[in-house]
Amino acid sequence: MNSSTKTDRVLPSVVYLYDEPSSPSFKVGEIVDFLKEKLPNVDVMTRKEFFSFHTHDVEELAKELASAKVRGIEGSQEEQEPLYGEVQYEKRILQEPHRRMTGILYDGFRLVRVFRGALPENEATTDIAHIAFTNRIISTYEKGDIRYHARVIMCGFPSLISTSGLIEAPAKPREYYLMKQKYAVTGSEPPAEELQAAFEGRFIDYDDENMTQALKGYTLQSIFYHTTGEPFCEDKDCMLFNAHWQEEVLNAQIVSGQLCEPHEQMLDDMVEGRRE
Ligand SMILES: [Zn+2]
Repeated sequence: MNSSTKTDRVLPSVVYLYDEPSSPSFKVGEIVDFLKEKLPNVDVMTRKEFFSFHTHDVEELAKELASAKVRGIEGSQEEQEPLYGEVQYEKRILQEPHRRMTGILYDGFRLVRVFRGALPENEATTDIAHIAFTNRIISTYEKGDIRYHARVIMCGFPSLISTSGLIEAPAKPREYYLMKQKYAVTGSEPPAEELQAAFEGRFIDYDDENMTQALKGYTLQSIFYHTTGEPFCEDKDCMLFNAHWQEEVLNAQIVSGQLCEPHEQMLDDMVEGRRE
């Protein structure tokens, strides 16, 4: 018999979703409603932005966050002492979480540790799932091609889901990069209208109305990770599909917007298991 039996898969009794206030098109309330429907006997609640909620020593926290930065995409995986300016930058973001950050990559494992360190002891239990939405770009080092890759989700305790990662991590259609290249030869950028006409609806952009819908599936991935240890599915039409292309994200989350049958069944079993 498989060691991971039905009874091992116990849903948490509480799920906290932390808001991400820098993306106007991101509506955490809609994700709460969606999860409540999927997990009828779990308390799903929203909280404000993670570090605004778990107030701490801002100076120390800023230092930890700056230390979690990736220095150069092929850069050293070693943690380094952050520069004064980097710490000041993090402080400003902590004080104004509605500001959108750009261009900074964080090491996902280090970042999860910083988030975990901010949780109060009585909430650091597997009976509670903390899912923090963030605009920080999460990345992990891939040994295969010795560089960091951006990701939408970092499953862990807590799980982090990146609104900017949804836009930056999955690759856009190949033709998009070809068009960019064509213009780059003359040192210019393709006109916004030309890009829009060619790629309308083929990727998710900042302030995209599809953002919230797309992130519902990632929220389910973190719930599956929390409960079973396995967040992903190989079925392209399942909301748990680990998409590497924007078009795959759109297909799994918007066109399909469903779990595959085995995962739907698994979720039913987990909900049933909590009732017993
Ligand atoms: Zn599936």
